[in-house]
Amino acid sequence: MARKIGSRYTAHQILGRGSAGTVWLGEGPEGPVAIKLLREDLASDQELVGRFVQERTALLGLEHPHVVSVRDLVVDGNDLALVMDLVRGTDLRTRLERERRMAPEAAVAVVADVADGLAAAHAAGVVHRDVKPENVLLDMQGPLGPGGSHPALLTDFGVAKLIDSPKRTRATKIIGTPDYLAPEIVEGLPPRAAVDIYALATVLYELLAGFTPFGGGHPGAVLRRHVTETVAPLPGIPDELWQLLVQCLAKAPASRLRASELGARLRELLPMLAGMPPLDVDEPDTEPEREPSEDAVEPAGERVRRRGAVPLVPGARPDSNRDTHTSMRVPGPDELAGGARGTARVPRAAGSPRPGSARHRAVARRRRITLGVAGTLLAAAVGVGAWLASSDDDPAPPPQDKGHSAPASP
Ligand code: ADP
Ligand code: MG
Repeated sequence: MARKIGSRYTAHQILGRGSAGTVWLGEGPEGPVAIKLLREDLASDQELVGRFVQERTALLGLEHPHVVSVRDLVVDGNDLALVMDLVRGTDLRTRLERERRMAPEAAVAVVADVADGLAAAHAAGVVHRDVKPENVLLDMQGPLGPGGSHPALLTDFGVAKLIDSPKRTRATKIIGTPDYLAPEIVEGLPPRAAVDIYALATVLYELLAGFTPFGGGHPGAVLRRHVTETVAPLPGIPDELWQLLVQCLAKAPASRLRASELGARLRELLPMLAGMPPLDVDEPDTEPEREPSEDAVEPAGERVRRRGAVPLVPGARPDSNRDTHTSMRVPGPDELAGGARGTARVPRAAGSPRPGSARHRAVARRRRITLGVAGTLLAAAVGVGAWLASSDDDPAPPPQDKGHSAPASP
């Protein structure tokens, strides 16, 4: 099923399918390549084709060991294709799904690679805008690095920009993937390099914890959490690593590290993390959250339907907050102020009961009985009992440790 792409390339077999098109294993004048053939409806969008050609130089100019290079852009009849370096391996999402959580050393090595790739892009004035595990490829043929990790390469550079329409009013529409979106984008500011740092720090948190810091539920709730919530500490994480995470997840873009600095700081931590097992944390519950307008009845236990999310490309339907979305509405100030406050999911140490669960209630009840028997500890029991009672009824997380909030400046 070989297929000619332009005059110089042949596509042989499908490597994978993405939201923007299909990626083929192909052959070019200089050997094997990966060819991303954009979907037909995108390829026939004249405006997009124009931008495709405009972006040519920026897309082709990026050469770095941790960036998947775009070698060529092909506009040929109905075909619109990006010719890339072929990476023999898998993407980081696939690895994470297999392992659930990565050992800190391997996670940090992968993220340091991506930070180095980003540093090169940022130096060239290119912002990625869609950093997430799906867009990190692991080169299984490369040499094994710290923690047994393969070299990581960032892909899909410039694709978000390509698909972003100049007609789009920046102030009201958002492009990106909800779980990884920096707060300033949610607030309607244009994306600068620091948005990639925020997204990459989110990826690092996810590799360590098995879930993103502000994910879960309706995309609107996720967007609000980026703006209003503080990241919840991960039990057992080494303090130096936690401080780096917190700094790069700072709400203020200027407080985050630059990519080159982040890469260097992460590499400094590698010796300390050697041999450390994956963190022992449980994923917090995803509380179904409803938008105020949502009145549909959902069967019990069914995950929240993601309404109001518009896919990256017309016709594609993102089915999760980890898919790239476009045209998400920027929430108004009143929406940002209310609604999602206190909904950030707080990780529990593995084995501890879920707040609100039958086991949690039983544990709380047992503790109350014990406290009742120990009547002499009256003063203490009043305080603890009040906390138990409230934690029993109210699944909202406890107030977060101010010591972990983002520093004002680096
Ligand atoms: P999209 O971003 O449009 O959703 P992706 O870029 O994620 O699509 O590509 C889909 C799949 O194709 C990836 O998961 C990966 O398996 C494969 N792929 C993409 N780029 C390459 C590449 N340069 N080399 C090898 N495989 C690739
Ligand atoms: Mg992709």
